[in-house]
Amino acid sequence: MIEGSVLIVGSGPSGLAAAIALGKQGVKARIVDSASGPAESSRALAVQARSLEIFDLWGIVDDVTSRGLPMHGVRLYGEDKRLLVQMRLGELPTRYPYMLSLPQSETEKVLIDHVKELGFNIERDTELTDIDFDSEGCMVKLQKSNGEQEEARFQWVIGCDGAHSTVRRLSHAEFEGKEYPQQFLLADVRINWPLAPNEAHIFTAPEGILACFPMPGGYYRVVANKPKGETEPAPDIDEVRRLMTTRGPKEFQVDDLKWSSNFFIHARLVESMQRGRVFLVGDAAHIHSPALGQGMNTGIQDAANLGWKLALVVKGLASEALLESYSNERWPVERGVLSQTDFTTRVMDGENRFFAWLRDLIAPVILANKRVSAHVRELVSELAVGYTDSPIVLPYKGDLPFKPGERLPDATVTKNGHDIRLYELLRDPGHHLLLMADQWTDPQVTAIFNGEMTVHSIRRKTSDEALVLQDSKGEIVSLFGWDCACLIRPDGYVGAVSGIADVGSMLEEYSRKIHVIPTAMRSKASLM
Ligand SMILES: Cc1cc2nc3c(=O)[nH]c(=O)nc-3n(C[C@H](O)[C@H](O)[C@H](O)COP(=O)(O)OP(=O)(O)OC[C@H]3O[C@@H](n4cnc5c(N)ncnc54)[C@H](O)[C@@H]3O)c2cc1C
Repeated sequence: MIEGSVLIVGSGPSGLAAAIALGKQGVKARIVDSASGPAESSRALAVQARSLEIFDLWGIVDDVTSRGLPMHGVRLYGEDKRLLVQMRLGELPTRYPYMLSLPQSETEKVLIDHVKELGFNIERDTELTDIDFDSEGCMVKLQKSNGEQEEARFQWVIGCDGAHSTVRRLSHAEFEGKEYPQQFLLADVRINWPLAPNEAHIFTAPEGILACFPMPGGYYRVVANKPKGETEPAPDIDEVRRLMTTRGPKEFQVDDLKWSSNFFIHARLVESMQRGRVFLVGDAAHIHSPALGQGMNTGIQDAANLGWKLALVVKGLASEALLESYSNERWPVERGVLSQTDFTTRVMDGENRFFAWLRDLIAPVILANKRVSAHVRELVSELAVGYTDSPIVLPYKGDLPFKPGERLPDATVTKNGHDIRLYELLRDPGHHLLLMADQWTDPQVTAIFNGEMTVHSIRRKTSDEALVLQDSKGEIVSLFGWDCACLIRPDGYVGAVSGIADVGSMLEEYSRKIHVIPTAMRSKASLM
């Protein structure tokens, strides 16, 4: 592990994910948090399918799914209690075709355990109070709750310090956007009713919406919009009951309030997610309405995108120019999330008759179309997120069911007679090169990435040669075709694809794109 170059500020889901993404690639960061312990409240509930896939690549997905409750669908009811739309998640093209319901505090517990396993120490009661950066590094001031102060220098700072980010303020990043003229009530309660379990139920009424999401342990998260008042105390069970009576189903019993909060929402996004040697990740860079359950998930995806790039730079294998692709790739995704969540919030609460008309009459017709509903499902699950227009992805003119820059779909191959998934193979650090050809040998290719790439040769037939992987189910050939190569980035996205004869030139071109420093220059730099 390389230590001493990176400071992560904040140990919420974004900071923890940033630590894992770096740690997996052999770079250890200092991680500080002003709070004395992890937050205990449930907050973000939805873990989207793409986050589960990232957790799969990190080898922690079973710890997450075993604690949560898979939500298999969403039902939207009109003002007359008629079912308007039913969205089934079971057809999502992933090993995790659902939205996992898990309180954020539980997701954080799994991430914390893994951060510790990787050898990180979370320094609690330690607040970043000042930061000054130039082209060489960042000077920061850390203040402990016992009064101790420390000044320290880092090459890079990752600001994961949430919606009120000090790192964002001190790096003078604008946080443009708007505040919504309403607030949301959140309450975790028990509900008894005859409605389908393991599905979310969203009710609309002239006064606003009421959404009920199933949670582990027989609870539901109730979310309702209401007019913004002064700061009010956390809602009590009577307020939840009142809202359910006016907006909810005809039959229900509600009790046992476990947690509740009033939640003010904003839609804001920084101009760029990088300010020199400072990166902004998660809520520090973008905040939006909780509609569609994107909040925590986007922060995890930001961290997965930044982690491998920063690790290559810290290890001296790529130049700093690679880091510009973090904001280039993630900013357009966040802009899309802001507009999708904004549109959904306005349509769902029917803030005017036009939006109510869209919701009640147009949405059911549009969403009855299979292609449209598949697209919406894949957007919400974040499986549709990709970087096909990224300057560091190599375009490919051949015929494939996916484009370079999109996530690699999982598939099963056989190793020594046992099934193994591609996502399990990708858990080793660095890039992964999949070679789909019955005959191919060129040990030269690994030299380009200087050991930062694992090569997986996949054959169609069993033979006595040193066979590593076999496409025994034909999943690989249907995904990629044959006699070709596919280069996978450490965050599980396809970086480049080529015919088998062009692997060498593809790797050279890709390594130029991601600013890999040629070996000779690297050794010269380390001699200086
Ligand atoms: C009441 C509530 C309900 C929510 N409900 C939902 C929901 O239903 N769905 C949804 O998608 N999202 C929801 N969210 C939002 C979701 O919780 C966030 O999107 C998510 O926590 C973002 O993670 P993060 O790591 O970026 O930031 P945070 O979780 O905010 O973590 C930031 C961390 O940085 C630390 N920190 C702050 N300043 C400093 C400093 N100067 N120095 C050191 N450490 C610092 C903090 O102590 C904290 O641990 C909710 C949030 C709240 C507050």
